[in-house]
Amino acid sequence: MPNDPVANSLNQQIMQRDVNVLWHPCTQMKDHEKLPLIPIRRGDGIWLEDFDGNRYLDAISSWWVNLFGHANPRTNRAVKEQLDNLEHVILAGFSHEPAITLAERLVALTPPGLSRCFFTDNGSSGVEVTLKMSFHYWQNVGKPKKKRFVTLANSYHGETLAALSVGDVDLYKSTYKPLLMDVFTAPSPDAFHREPGESEEAYARRQFEKMRSILANNHEEICAVIVEPLVQCAGNMRMYHPVYLKLLREACDRYNVHLIADEIAVGFGRTGTLFACEQAGIRPDFMALSKGLTGGYLPLCAVLTTDEIYQAFYDDYNTMRAFLHSHSFTGNPLACAAALATLDIFETDNVIEENRILSAHMSKALERFIDHPHVADVRQHGMIAAVEMVKDKKTRTAYDWQERRGLRVYQHALSRGALLRPLGNVTYFMPPYIITPEQIDFLADVAWEGIQIATRD
Ligand SMILES: *Cc1c(COP(=O)(O)O)cnc(C)c1O
Repeated sequence: MPNDPVANSLNQQIMQRDVNVLWHPCTQMKDHEKLPLIPIRRGDGIWLEDFDGNRYLDAISSWWVNLFGHANPRTNRAVKEQLDNLEHVILAGFSHEPAITLAERLVALTPPGLSRCFFTDNGSSGVEVTLKMSFHYWQNVGKPKKKRFVTLANSYHGETLAALSVGDVDLYKSTYKPLLMDVFTAPSPDAFHREPGESEEAYARRQFEKMRSILANNHEEICAVIVEPLVQCAGNMRMYHPVYLKLLREACDRYNVHLIADEIAVGFGRTGTLFACEQAGIRPDFMALSKGLTGGYLPLCAVLTTDEIYQAFYDDYNTMRAFLHSHSFTGNPLACAAALATLDIFETDNVIEENRILSAHMSKALERFIDHPHVADVRQHGMIAAVEMVKDKKTRTAYDWQERRGLRVYQHALSRGALLRPLGNVTYFMPPYIITPEQIDFLADVAWEGIQIATRD
């Protein structure tokens, strides 16, 4: 039988070698005394295959990065071709065509007004760049009092110290609080908390009032507001109405504060448009893109910004206004080649249009969860859909986190050949765009069974 533990299987042998030397991300390693670790031998489209020959449908795009499947022939070809020409070169003083072409194409694709592209090598470092650039801009234009940032409750922007400072997921943040900078935290527009009968838009407008007063009262010391447009992914896939972004753009203009759009997770079609900001018709001052940027192949982050910000750094060297920030692998050519192949696929395959059919199918497949006695909320923005389990549907009382009910969904899904990795009590789908309607139905069945098992007692 597939997906059953086999004594002394290849999986187990490799796992033993693994736990002897590896320290895994976001993991209590002791869990692996009981919970098998799954070594993957190969990826093929939406499937991952382990060393015992079991296959898993990758419903979470390998941590939200993969867009067009594993070992995608077109991306593979592009990376292999690049490999034979140039694997890497310093990007200070030197340049290369993949970085130039990618910057040109990102400038053309992102909202008008974003005209400069700065590369880093992962999402967190890209977030750090947006924070440093914003602060430094205000220094350069003679506003040295601007030193603080505003973030939303329940937000996530990465794990390095400044990125963690502007995030608000306690699970990752609370231990390190003594090390972090002090930020203003505005309540989230997260529609989960709206009153019965209240529309998502009305709730977003209501929640915005606190943000407005933070800006009105403190704008002289505020550099920027940072948000994840439309979906707070690591914050349990909570979602909000685009009007919030519109109001925020207006207020940032009014109070002379930058708006940073962290589209690291939601960019490249996840919310139904190429970028989530498009749904609010806004242009941020900084936009950070990563994860799907390379189709999920290689680490890379692009920070897009405006000419106005760029010009505040542009001066004679001796004025010391330059942005002297770098990472060794900045703009790596292999990563840029993967990103260019990704943009090619968007261009030739009409991906955003085709995804509408898939996301409509996803919402139909999830309809039956709405009345489940232990489901409080079924929500979706484009190609991201989430089902939230609760102990009490009426009062929306959450299950105790120590019960780790999401883990039961995870384990059930593995036994059925699917990689679903709930966030707490929230089971979600964020699949590669090559998923088929039949595979969506299969995932919905697996999630249903998993939630039945997880809520049994
Ligand atoms: C994943 C993520 C990051 C951090 O990116 P890494 O590449 O993991 O450092 C930042 N912001 C958001 C919204 C993310 O989802």
